[in-house]
Amino acid sequence: MGVRAGKARRWGTVDAVIARFAAAARGRVPRLCPCCGHEGLFTAFGDPPRYDARCPRCGSLERHRLIRLWMDRERPFGPSHRVLHVAPEPQLGPAIRALVARYETADISPRRAPDHLLDICDTGLPDGQYDRIVCNHVLEHVDDIRALAEMFRLLAPGGLVLLTTPIIEGWATTYENSAITAPEERRLHFGQADHLRIYGRDLRDRIRQAGFRLSEFPAMEPDVHRHGLIRGETLFLARKPDPSSEEAA
Ligand SMILES: [Zn+2]
Repeated sequence: MGVRAGKARRWGTVDAVIARFAAAARGRVPRLCPCCGHEGLFTAFGDPPRYDARCPRCGSLERHRLIRLWMDRERPFGPSHRVLHVAPEPQLGPAIRALVARYETADISPRRAPDHLLDICDTGLPDGQYDRIVCNHVLEHVDDIRALAEMFRLLAPGGLVLLTTPIIEGWATTYENSAITAPEERRLHFGQADHLRIYGRDLRDRIRQAGFRLSEFPAMEPDVHRHGLIRGETLFLARKPDPSSEEAA
């Protein structure tokens, strides 16, 4: 008990120092935020903190800016689309809502008053109701095989999931261990107290095994330095096949 309490106190102190450092840290080069148009120095965010992570005006992080760049270039949202935004980020939600017929939010927590209070692994929502699902940094928290199957079920044929999640491209296989359950152990092994795994490249197999066709939008230069992205961070685009308009593959 005594040792554990002492450890907790030391971690608390380290966390406080990191938080103070992160609050004061800035990038050194001006970036342009595609989410809000802000141009200037970004601020640090994360554990450990990353320079240039957060737009000081709208709060966007690297992944939000990556997704917004892809949205602006590919125009994947249209006026007839029905969208489900899981664990909705305020940095992206309003921009998507403005483009589509129906925009709904879903979360396992009531904190942000979602339209649907649900578990993405078992939503209880009807089949084929959505044309787009946005699901960032959720899979690493849940039973991903069930979540992918559920999103496949919720999509109409031809529908698309926008997915991001932490991934180590140098690993062939995902690291997970169901025996590791204590928050501090999960933080050490998986990078965050409520993460269940860290993906390797086989994330792609899991997405395809759920029935999706997969394409990718990785952060490349000059976008990385211009918009403050993480080199190689990838937006995964998982499409549910549409048998009525199958192109020759
Ligand atoms: Zn911004």
